[in-house]
Amino acid sequence: MRTLVWFRGKDLRLHDHGPLLEATKAAQKGGGELVPLFVVDPYFFAPERARELPSRMQYLVATLAELHAAVAGLGSELLLLGGKSVDVVPLVARVAEVDRIVAHRWTEPFGRERDARIAKALPPGVRFELHEGETLATPGEVMTQAGKPFSVFSPFARALAKVVVPGEPLARPRSLPPSPVAGAKLPKELRALVVPLPTLASLGLEENPGLVAGGEAAARRRLSLFSKGPAALYDVGRNELGVAGTSRLSQDLKFGTLTPRAVWHAAKEALAPHPKAWAAFSNELVWRDFAYHVLYHQPEVLTHPFRREWEGFRWRDDPAGWEAWVAGETGYPVVDASARQLLGEGFVHNRARMISASFLCKHLMMDYRLGEAHYLRWLTDADWASNNLGWQWSAGCGVDAQPWFRVFNPVSQGEKFDPDGAYVRRWIPELARVPSKWIHAPWTAPAHELTKAGVELGRTYPRPIVDHALARGRFLATAEEMLARRRSR
Ligand SMILES: Cc1cc2nc3c(=O)[nH]c(=O)nc-3n(C[C@H](O)[C@H](O)[C@H](O)COP(=O)(O)OP(=O)(O)OC[C@H]3O[C@@H](n4cnc5c(N)ncnc54)[C@H](O)[C@@H]3O)c2cc1C
Repeated sequence: MRTLVWFRGKDLRLHDHGPLLEATKAAQKGGGELVPLFVVDPYFFAPERARELPSRMQYLVATLAELHAAVAGLGSELLLLGGKSVDVVPLVARVAEVDRIVAHRWTEPFGRERDARIAKALPPGVRFELHEGETLATPGEVMTQAGKPFSVFSPFARALAKVVVPGEPLARPRSLPPSPVAGAKLPKELRALVVPLPTLASLGLEENPGLVAGGEAAARRRLSLFSKGPAALYDVGRNELGVAGTSRLSQDLKFGTLTPRAVWHAAKEALAPHPKAWAAFSNELVWRDFAYHVLYHQPEVLTHPFRREWEGFRWRDDPAGWEAWVAGETGYPVVDASARQLLGEGFVHNRARMISASFLCKHLMMDYRLGEAHYLRWLTDADWASNNLGWQWSAGCGVDAQPWFRVFNPVSQGEKFDPDGAYVRRWIPELARVPSKWIHAPWTAPAHELTKAGVELGRTYPRPIVDHALARGRFLATAEEMLARRRSR
């Protein structure tokens, strides 16, 4: 039995890798063979494309290099072939005469379509086995009593708690059988496709030192540090913008350097003495599952509002507003800090994502899909399911409880979740010396206080580009009018 273990962009690890472990055990028991493969697809790795996803590519390049070395360290070789998976995988199956291909299932519609095309193109008799691991629950496993998909989070979470018991993570293989198609034994047809390990330089990217380190080892270290530290206070700390109170594991879950169940078990054990923190943290992991659940059952959310009555909403065209939002120059400090954190660290605190997304969609009344695409471009954890769910939720046209008429006030949100202004001071140094009392609304500070802090509004830091009350009123009136029209049809 010759098995092709196809590593894809969402399972770049050796621990808790079901298909790898199963194929390794089978090979070691029965004298079978194993071909580890990664396809360097131009969809991500063409330099012009990589430059559009700089944070994700920096993480991916480091992770791939580490995986390549780790596979070699275990006695095998990760074959790196350039091309589109739909062409390369069937070709390898044929030329390397494999009996089966094992990989992890993807939820995204384009991943499902790709897998269906590959399954069709495989030589007769070659099995294509897709394993679970992307989520805690297998999509389709958690359904309403009527057998329908949930569209609201809380009942989904309750149902998931009843039917899903996340299994213990699997061990890393201790060794791998040598690849039968490595080095001199690589067939000529495949040799032509071999590519070197991509590097930042080969992709034309400059390293951003603000991003978290890629790779499975760094991800496991982050999990351990979080479990031993901030996890215990997660229920409180998760909302504090100026504190490192969250796990920072989202990119690791996205690229699969960690599995959700590995995170689940590590946090559950660490948080046994802290039930409130565990309840809050596990709830967030279930939110991630919910995003995948929604995308699995309604793949069209990637292009259409979840609530169809929002189709055709009159989003505004506001190039100046857009530029200010992107650059972090709206004049609302917490919104601006989040924009600058995104560009600086390829990450934004969850609370800041909500405030900032609400500001774009409601204060500026700009299409949530613009913000969604901007986040997809710059976030290291950019994830189709969670990002779409977050943006639609923030815009008011998505799943669940956030009523569309709730408009975050960026000043009071800042005052509540960044009371001493630590988050704002870090990302907006020009406001660093403004006293906490005015840091979230510097235009309300007495002139002498601003002078003392070295701030000249309109010159060193912008005045608000919109008035909160007016912008809120404009959005509510437009949305109410549209929804009333829809109701009367
Ligand atoms: C507008 C918007 C866009 C977002 N885009 C993404 C995205 O592209 N990728 C992404 O992973 N998350 C996204 N989120 C969700 C959330 O902001 C991040 O998962 C979280 O900030 C990551 O930080 P952390 O790992 O420290 O999270 P923690 O608070 O430590 O949470 C642990 C894990 O739970 C999951 N999680 C937490 N909150 C959510 C949530 N609301 N929805 C889904 N999963 C969640 C993540 O995998 C996270 O790593 C978005 C939220 C909003 C409001």
